[in-house]
Amino acid sequence: MYLKLKGGKYEEKMRKLTQFVLSIFDYLGQYPQFTEKDFFSFLGMDGAWFEMCYRRRPKLRTLLGELAQEPVSLRKRLFEAMEKDVSYIAHMDEEAFRFAESTLPSVILAKAAALTTYLYDEIFVKAEFQVEGEQMNRIRFKREFYRVNFPPDQRDVCPVCLQASGRLRENSQIDHFFPKAKYPALVFQPENLPVICKECNEADGKGQKDPMQDTDLTELFLPYRRAAEEETRMRIWLDGNGRHLQLVPTGGDGKVQKRIDNFDRLYQVSACWNRQADQYLAECGRIAGNCGSTAEAEEELRILAKNKRRMAARDKSQLIESRCYDYMEGEGHSVFLDECEKRLEEQRKLRQM
Ligand SMILES: [Zn+2]
Repeated sequence: MYLKLKGGKYEEKMRKLTQFVLSIFDYLGQYPQFTEKDFFSFLGMDGAWFEMCYRRRPKLRTLLGELAQEPVSLRKRLFEAMEKDVSYIAHMDEEAFRFAESTLPSVILAKAAALTTYLYDEIFVKAEFQVEGEQMNRIRFKREFYRVNFPPDQRDVCPVCLQASGRLRENSQIDHFFPKAKYPALVFQPENLPVICKECNEADGKGQKDPMQDTDLTELFLPYRRAAEEETRMRIWLDGNGRHLQLVPTGGDGKVQKRIDNFDRLYQVSACWNRQADQYLAECGRIAGNCGSTAEAEEELRILAKNKRRMAARDKSQLIESRCYDYMEGEGHSVFLDECEKRLEEQRKLRQM
């Protein structure tokens, strides 16, 4: 994520739901023979809603039955792997941490993922079951996400690409940062569920990409825990191939560049930002053309840059535009002056005709 995110009031409930799902796998790891009586007594009072779901949904019974066909020793390994993996935030600074689920045989992992994904769809997408007397659907989750992260005086934006849209709430999706198919333990884990825009989440953006591919937790910006905005700045630079906008580390931590590279690998955000920057920089160029002198253009630029900075402090969707104006005032000032000269010269020629 680029933005630092806050969890909302559902955070604790999601954590409990994660623990409840784990207790299903705990039972499967302990009891060689699956019986409904043992199963529901093991789940206890917390499992009342789940029992109702179990009775009404043949599909759920099938998915549990398929897992129960695996050898109990393997089911025990599955539970231990899942239990370890849900604690990943506690290990976010350890290079050696590896998710245990990815070391399991693919058949049992696929069965576990089929079960947790099914529960996610029933509870979160179809919203047909109340967990402990409360609807826990994705619409409520998203509403809470926007409420805590973007107060009423701020515009909702996608925490990855910073694009704002009046319709972002409809255009938003819950991303499983660590994908459901590979990390069944993290399906309800609150730190694993940022709300991002459709473009960033779907196939052209993140899709099913695994953040852990060829890397480790220390080299990732982790939703809700480690954000790009805290460790980087946006830099615009010029070379023979044109202007580029990129994130650069602000401190000396060698990990940050890796985090930036992984962020871009996962969401392809720099392509999207550079398209925006090209457009904003061209607009800066037009200021030069609308003024009668270089001094006048510089004054206009100074006022606009100041306004943009003030707006960007509240509205993150203005951040890239503001950075473009800063660039024209600072490092790119000679480019701006050249543009001014060019436009003024064009105007002089027009007058002489
Ligand atoms: Zn986005």
